[in-house]
Amino acid sequence: MPARPVILTVDDDPGVSRAVARDLRREYGEHHRIVRAESGPAALEALKEIALRGEQVAVILADQRMPRMSGVEFLEQAMDLFPRARRVLLTAYADTEAAITAINVVDLDHYLLKPWDPPEEKLYPVVDSLLAAWRDTPDRPSAPVRIVGHRWSSRSYELRDLVARNQLSYDFLRADEPEGARLLEAAGADPDQLPVVITEDGTALIQPTDAQVVEAAGLATTASEAVYDLVVVGGGPGGLGASVYGGSEGLRTVLVESRATGGQAGTSSRIENYLGFPNGVSGDQLTTRARLQAEKFGTEVLTTRTVTSLEPRGRARVITFDDGSEITAHSVVLATGVSYRMLDCPGLEEHTGQGVFYGAAATEAASCAAQDVYVVGGANSAGQAAMNFSRHARRVIMLVRGPSLAASMSHYLIAQIEANPKIEVRTCTEVVGAAGTEHLEKLTLRDRNSGAEETVEASWLFVFIGAAPRTDWLDGVVARDGRGFVLTGPDLPGGPNGRRPAGWEMDRDPFHLETSLPGVFAVGDVRAESVKRVASAVGEGAMAVSLVHRWLENR
Ligand SMILES: Cc1cc2nc3c(=O)[nH]c(=O)nc-3n(C[C@H](O)[C@H](O)[C@H](O)COP(=O)(O)OP(=O)(O)OC[C@H]3O[C@@H](n4cnc5c(N)ncnc54)[C@H](O)[C@@H]3O)c2cc1C
Repeated sequence: MPARPVILTVDDDPGVSRAVARDLRREYGEHHRIVRAESGPAALEALKEIALRGEQVAVILADQRMPRMSGVEFLEQAMDLFPRARRVLLTAYADTEAAITAINVVDLDHYLLKPWDPPEEKLYPVVDSLLAAWRDTPDRPSAPVRIVGHRWSSRSYELRDLVARNQLSYDFLRADEPEGARLLEAAGADPDQLPVVITEDGTALIQPTDAQVVEAAGLATTASEAVYDLVVVGGGPGGLGASVYGGSEGLRTVLVESRATGGQAGTSSRIENYLGFPNGVSGDQLTTRARLQAEKFGTEVLTTRTVTSLEPRGRARVITFDDGSEITAHSVVLATGVSYRMLDCPGLEEHTGQGVFYGAAATEAASCAAQDVYVVGGANSAGQAAMNFSRHARRVIMLVRGPSLAASMSHYLIAQIEANPKIEVRTCTEVVGAAGTEHLEKLTLRDRNSGAEETVEASWLFVFIGAAPRTDWLDGVVARDGRGFVLTGPDLPGGPNGRRPAGWEMDRDPFHLETSLPGVFAVGDVRAESVKRVASAVGEGAMAVSLVHRWLENR
């Protein structure tokens, strides 16, 4: 039985909170689960648990005047967890100004004046229309899957991360707990061959591939056509930008993403500097909306497909996937971004996914509640993660190799970290060892000045030490710089006039974002000399499509 969608209400006045929940339960209790909380933080905790269980939230009703966190502040964070949930602010008459502001800030659907009696006239018609809108919101088709695995198995973690990052609904059940064991037995699955994914129709997928899991949950992994106007490789902000513009401008466009759309931005808890979001926006929310927008314009999105080669055949551009299958396109946008560098020290590799994570690992954040979390890195991504973990953890210890954060982190973030009593910054410190049995238990830290080593109890380590492009598969196909970033336009190594690369066949200079292979463009972080920002990746994605049109007109 799929879980009933949740309607959540939060109000710091226990009497009001109970009254709203009672009215909601009376009308909607049969088909919805009504959850109530008496503070913003408590409601956020409830939402996180709901998210971890893979359940859906349809409507959130929040009181505006709550002491620890206002309704708008709560809704902003709630949106990160459940972007599709419809949002209502409960306000007193005097708060209508705040409510109107909230319409812009948190994309509020409705503000409801208190009291709402009689509910038949004032509450139910509003909730009815919001539930209908929630049901009608275009969302990727998602059939809930259940993952049964060991709590600390790396592969179980990978699968949970995969489905969570693709915004698919799922339940995770531990194989050593009664419900997980029962499911395995019912599915006829061998408990020694984990993880097992059980699909909505009861099929058990034993140790499935990523593609099998997302397919079972309803995402496309194979192209519906053999030839496209435009293939976009990589589903981060750059690729999504190109896909939205490609699709909206009538190009038959397919986006190919090896893991989950959103790319690095999808892992960012809060992007503070993206235009139009004065209070920041979670990367997940921004990129989920972009994906919906691309699909709305007809772009096909393939998930868990890695492109392994690109080859010119005449004026056609052929890309090959890891299983050997091909798609032909008239043009290609490379938006493959960068991937995290791995931290190299004894004991870390075997604990990856078992307490050691690269990136923010959103699925794990709630598990760190009331524990110490170590964050390695001194740049913005590490700072954002530290701020985010400080909401759950007892203490966040940032391990920074350099003497301060000033050289590598934005001022606003340094100020937030300094003002946060839960975050401790240890400069001139590096991780030199890790140990544990099933899960990370200890870290050895070295003071880079004195050389002194110290072993600390640690269950959670999140690593953010920079990133590198993975472009080896483009070797010999497009020109790259010494670090593997793709060269484009004016940065290409020149021919006689300094602007045309060797072997360039066109009777024109390369376009601005064009690589050394005509009709193939590069955008975002993978492009040499690019600004490593969401806005610039999106902008370049849009710009590349206008250059694609010029290429298509004059091939
Ligand atoms: C934690 C964090 C916080 C950040 N915060 C901010 C911020 O606040 N503001 C800001 O402006 N920027 C921020 N950034 C930087 C920003 O996210 C990046 O600049 C942006 O995501 C780059 O977009 P992109 O599309 O070029 O590449 P990416 O986001 O790196 O996406 C590339 C995608 O391509 C896919 N891919 C790679 N190779 C292949 C292949 N061969 N086949 C198929 N798919 C492939 C990858 O899986 C990935 O999804 C942050 C980054 C991180 C990690």
